[in-house]
Amino acid sequence: NAFGVRANTQLAVDAGIPIGETRAIKTNAYMETAIADVYAVGDCAETTHFITHKPICPQLGTVAVRQGKTAGTNIGGVNSQFTGVLASTVTKLFDIEAGSTGISETVAVKNQIGIVVSTVNSKTKAGYYPSAKPLRIKLVVKKETEHLIGAQIVGGEEVTQRINALSFAIQKQMTVRDLAKADTAYAPPMCETWEPMVLAAEMALMKLR
Ligand SMILES: Cc1cc2nc3c(=O)[nH]c(=O)nc-3n(C[C@H](O)[C@H](O)[C@H](O)COP(=O)(O)OP(=O)(O)OC[C@H]3O[C@@H](n4cnc5c(N)ncnc54)[C@H](O)[C@@H]3O)c2cc1C
Repeated sequence: NAFGVRANTQLAVDAGIPIGETRAIKTNAYMETAIADVYAVGDCAETTHFITHKPICPQLGTVAVRQGKTAGTNIGGVNSQFTGVLASTVTKLFDIEAGSTGISETVAVKNQIGIVVSTVNSKTKAGYYPSAKPLRIKLVVKKETEHLIGAQIVGGEEVTQRINALSFAIQKQMTVRDLAKADTAYAPPMCETWEPMVLAAEMALMKLR
């Protein structure tokens, strides 16, 4: 994906199905194309970004399976809507894990969304614990409403489940004020006393003041 991937949508074009501005097949919330009862999902289908509300074609397996479930449910006669994507991703390069959800600072600026960002460096275990690995979290917060709208994490481990937690928080329209009060767990071999996501939220709150 770093080189860019474009779906081959020729089949849809030949069938007269409209292509969207991302050059993928336009779909509605039911994953239905402009032609009734014809559905498109996965790498060839355009969907909506949860934060920008703009068309996006994230080309992720996670999105493809959820879209497939939505289309299949609708085809089976039960009403189901796909409400958009945060395009949450994780990856690993040798010993470094990285992940993101929602929008980045760059995308926020591009979309003229007023933001504050906060970045904290922490550890994946208690600082004194021998195998503790570094973890860096960046939160992107909508200035006007204090809503969390994006996060990126890079570190030695434990990136995926934190990205998932932040993705839930964004989907549920949590503010950083709420996140700063999150009821998190702690044990030295597994995490820090102050959960790094909570610290990052506190930092964002300080910047919002
Ligand atoms: C190297 C790589 C790593 C990835 N890693 C991740 C990851 O870690 N996490 C993640 O979320 N996503 C990842 N992805 C993306 C993910 O694989 C895709 O988003 C997902 O597979 C898309 O599903 P799809 O059903 O739309 O398309 P595909 O999985 O590509 O399925 C399309 C199928 O259609 C078949 N086909 C094509 N043309 C025809 C035809 N004319 N007639 C009949 N059959 C046809 C193909 O053979 C294929 O089996 C990765 C992709 C790549 C390439």
